[in-house]
Amino acid sequence: MTAPLEDILRAHIVAHGPMDVGAYMSLCLLHPEHGYYITRDPFGASGDFVTAPEISPLFGEMIGFWVADMWGQMGSPARWHLVELGPGRGTLMIDILRILSQMNGCAPTVHLIEASAKLRAVQRNELADRCSWHDDINAIPTDAPIIVVNNEFFDALPVRQYIKTADGIDEAVIGVCLDGRLQLGRVRASISLPDDFPMGRVVEISPARDNVAGQIYERIKNQGGAMLAIDYGYDQAPGASTLQAVRSHQKVNVLSAPGACDLTALVDFARLRALAVQAGLAAYGPVGQGAFLLQLGIAARLAKNAAQATKAQHDEMLMAMDRLCSPEKMGDLFKVLCVCQASPILTPAGFS
Ligand code: SAH
Repeated sequence: MTAPLEDILRAHIVAHGPMDVGAYMSLCLLHPEHGYYITRDPFGASGDFVTAPEISPLFGEMIGFWVADMWGQMGSPARWHLVELGPGRGTLMIDILRILSQMNGCAPTVHLIEASAKLRAVQRNELADRCSWHDDINAIPTDAPIIVVNNEFFDALPVRQYIKTADGIDEAVIGVCLDGRLQLGRVRASISLPDDFPMGRVVEISPARDNVAGQIYERIKNQGGAMLAIDYGYDQAPGASTLQAVRSHQKVNVLSAPGACDLTALVDFARLRALAVQAGLAAYGPVGQGAFLLQLGIAARLAKNAAQATKAQHDEMLMAMDRLCSPEKMGDLFKVLCVCQASPILTPAGFS
């Protein structure tokens, strides 16, 4: 017996032809009935993967200090919007708000953008009266400056994959084999690509990411403010598919269990940065998550949190900091990009 989503995908492909990788990704993650994020809370040791805010409150607290500093640099506005895209369990926002509540006069209106009703319910448990929920950035009021944060959000947005060949451009697609299995293949694409597109290499583009980034950038431009994006990604395209499926903390074949495993693609930070510059905004980074957190003073924060901790708790904090910051763990793979208003100039912490 196969998963219900696999049957739906197969029927769709048989009826309409091969499906591009982006459409596949999007249905696997957000199909209204069987999508991965629609049917479950995938986070934590017993789930499929662990994200930085779930490793330790230190992560969200450091982001909280970053946001507070930015708000101060923006002139400490009385009214402003704090927006998070793809908040998962809501842990990052809870930790950020704990830090902001210690700052005099720092009282944002908080907006969460979340596609999954199931995860919205988890977020509501802790954040019910402190936030409002929206489908997309268009619903955020336009009347005040805005600070946007997101962790492992852009990597969940669909990518399409193109390969330049000697006689044209192919797109990677999902088809159905004679025996009914889903299979990766290629079809001739009818798009044009820049001349410097490297021959024979897989190049990923993400109209969905470009679109969301564009909406955020327009808001920052019009309302003032900044975005902090933290994600699994690269500054230089690897020239190969970065589509990855994870289930129970293990990498699995991207076609093996549609809707039952997480699917992500590495974020092209150079692209997010270039779009920001094109929009007339300032961009900082990407820098490694480890360098960023260390520069923000995560070690000093740990020492403060550990003052009343037991030896076991202190050891746990040290292990968490190592996991978040060390280059062999999350410190280099995860990167941080800040995009902010160009004037007045802001100097985001953590990027020097
Ligand atoms: N930021 C969280 C969760 C990351 S997982 C953390 O670090 O723990 C990705 C999150 O983005 C999930 O909450 C998922 O439901 C949400 N998401 C994925 N695609 C989305 C979309 N197109 N619009 C809004 N939310 C989306």
